[in-house]
Amino acid sequence: MTFRHRHLLGIEPLHPVEITTILDLADRYVDLNRGARKHGDALAGLTQVNMFFENSTRTQASFELAGKRLGADVMNMSMQASSIKKGETLIDTAMTLNAMHPDLLVVRHPHSGAVNLLAEKVNCAVLNAGDGRHEHPTQALLDALTIRRAKGRLHRLSIAICGDIAHSRVARSNILLLGKMENRIRLVGPPTLMPAGVADWGVEVFDDMRAGLEGVDVVMMLRLQKERMDGGFIPSEREYYHRYGLDAEKLSCARPDAIVMHPGPMNRGVEIDGTLADDINRSVIQEQVEMGVAVRMAAMDLLARNRAAPPAREVMA
Ligand code: ASP
Repeated sequence: MTFRHRHLLGIEPLHPVEITTILDLADRYVDLNRGARKHGDALAGLTQVNMFFENSTRTQASFELAGKRLGADVMNMSMQASSIKKGETLIDTAMTLNAMHPDLLVVRHPHSGAVNLLAEKVNCAVLNAGDGRHEHPTQALLDALTIRRAKGRLHRLSIAICGDIAHSRVARSNILLLGKMENRIRLVGPPTLMPAGVADWGVEVFDDMRAGLEGVDVVMMLRLQKERMDGGFIPSEREYYHRYGLDAEKLSCARPDAIVMHPGPMNRGVEIDGTLADDINRSVIQEQVEMGVAVRMAAMDLLARNRAAPPAREVMA
C-alpha cells in the first residue's frame, strides 16, 4: 500500500501512485457502503474531531459518516460559536486540541494556509476539508473516483472545468490532480473569474463556453462563489447564466457521453440548469456525494495506518 503521508493537506504533494492507492481503497469502501451492514473497524478506538470554521453541510456530514462507519469516536466542534469568536488564536486552539489527544483532525477554514499551520502545531493527522481558495483535496479525490468509475479510466480524458475558477479551491485541487493523472484540462469562464497566472498552469483557457466544451468527456461546473467576491465580477446572474450556465444546448457541444459534475451546493439557474442537474443520464452529481463518503473513509484509514507506524523523517507539505 503506497501512501506515506502523515496529513492530507492538499493534492500538490501526492504522487500519482498515492492517488491511485486512495481511489482503489475507496472503491472497496463503496462496496461496503452499499451493503446491508456498513461497518468497518479501521478507526476503532480512535478519536476524530471535525473543526469547521466555515459553514458546510455535505462535507462535514460526509466526514462524520465516514468516521462513524469505520468505528471512530467522532466529535463536531462548532467553531462558528466557539472561543475563536472570543479572540483565541489558531495556535491556542491547536494547543487545546493537543491536550485532548485526538487522532484525526478534519479542518475547514476560510483562510488559505490555515490548515497547514494547524498541522504543524498538533500531534495528530490533519485532513484539509477546504482552506480559503487554496485546496480541497478530498473533493478532488471524490471527483476523480466518480470520473474513473463513469469513464473506466482517469487518464487521457478531456475535462472542462467551468465557471468561477478564481475563487475555487475545488478547481485548484482538481487541476492539480487531473494534471498529475495526464488528462487534458480546459478552463472555461469569463476572464474576470480566471485566476492571475493561469497561462502558466498548463491548461487551455476559453471564454466562449461552446468552444470550451467542444468534444470534452467531462463537464465540471463550479458554484459562483459570491461570498468570496468583493466587486463586480459578473454583469448580472441572468447574463452569466446566458453565457456560462450549463444547459442542454451548450452541453450538446461536448461528447454525447460526456458526464456533468458539480461539487455542490448548486445555484440552480445561475451556473447550471436544474433539470440537467437532475438528469440521471448525464449528471453524476449524486454519485459525487456517494463517492465522497468512500474517499474520506479511505483517506482516514490510510492516515490512521501511518499514524500507527510513522514513516521515518516524514516531511509533508
Ligand atoms: N463545497 C465546495 C467547497 O467547499 C464547493 C463550493 O462551496 O462551491 O469549496
